[in-house]
Amino acid sequence: MQMADSTLSLSSNLSDDLSLLSPTSSQFSSSSEFNLDRDLLPEELPVVKCVARARIPTTNNTEIFLHLYSNNIDKKEHLAIVFGENIRSKSLYLRQKNETQSDRMIRGAYIGKLQPNRKIADFDELKKIGLKFNEKDELIYDNRTSYNPENPILVRIHSECYTGETTWSARCDCGEQFDEAGRLMGEYGRGVIIYLRQEGRGIGLGEKLKAYNLQDLGADTVQANLMLRHPADARSFSLATSILLDLNLPNIKLLTNNPDKILAVEGKNRLIRVVERIPMIPIAWRENLKEGIQSKEINGYLRTKIERMGHLLQEPIRI
Ligand SMILES: [Zn+2]
Repeated sequence: MQMADSTLSLSSNLSDDLSLLSPTSSQFSSSSEFNLDRDLLPEELPVVKCVARARIPTTNNTEIFLHLYSNNIDKKEHLAIVFGENIRSKSLYLRQKNETQSDRMIRGAYIGKLQPNRKIADFDELKKIGLKFNEKDELIYDNRTSYNPENPILVRIHSECYTGETTWSARCDCGEQFDEAGRLMGEYGRGVIIYLRQEGRGIGLGEKLKAYNLQDLGADTVQANLMLRHPADARSFSLATSILLDLNLPNIKLLTNNPDKILAVEGKNRLIRVVERIPMIPIAWRENLKEGIQSKEINGYLRTKIERMGHLLQEPIRI
């Protein structure tokens, strides 16, 4: 089965980021369990650029650093939600011609914390450590000032889901998954959620709402996609690959139940290495239906993903 088959598209908005169950982490050494063929992945990765980074204190008492990216394949503002001050984007920290230290602080290309009257972006007065740059004005990564890329970091790749994240939808579990990934990374103190703005695989929310109506008329999520002639689209994962490379995070532990996602984010040339898969177990299953999303829609949705999309599952869904 290949990417071109839209029934198996990785980035379907109706079918992305499902929480299917697999109780243990797995090591990956072969591609035999994947639907996707690595050779069919694009050779060239998108060019991404981090245009701004800002600290966001959160209601979970965790600080995150939101990174906003532009790219050369669409006009969307994709994001990296970064847990960890020392995870540094290559493109953000690159010194630009004629920019001042103040410009750099405003873009978010600083070390340590901002405070009133701070003047220098590249030096942390509190810790007495500074960033260093090469003759091309690129950041030189060193373990005192930046995250050690040899250490695999927890990563979640999340596709935008307006209904799941904003309108409390129980048709899918995107909102729950997003919250859970953030909770785990807050606990670990390190991690990155790549947030891809691909509602409806770029087709948009309108198409997704039509698919929901088709589902209410009896179609499952895969059938609804087909009826709407959704094209396959693997670019979302290329963007995630590029963003992880830009953050200098080549070794990752991927939070997912979707084996194809592992191959897709690694890319054709495996510039990213998924050293471990960490399963996402629906809260309702873990908590014996006392918490988490409960609706007849979510059960059908999860079952379709397991039976038709090859997600990893080791426990029956209660219908
Ligand atoms: Zn969703």
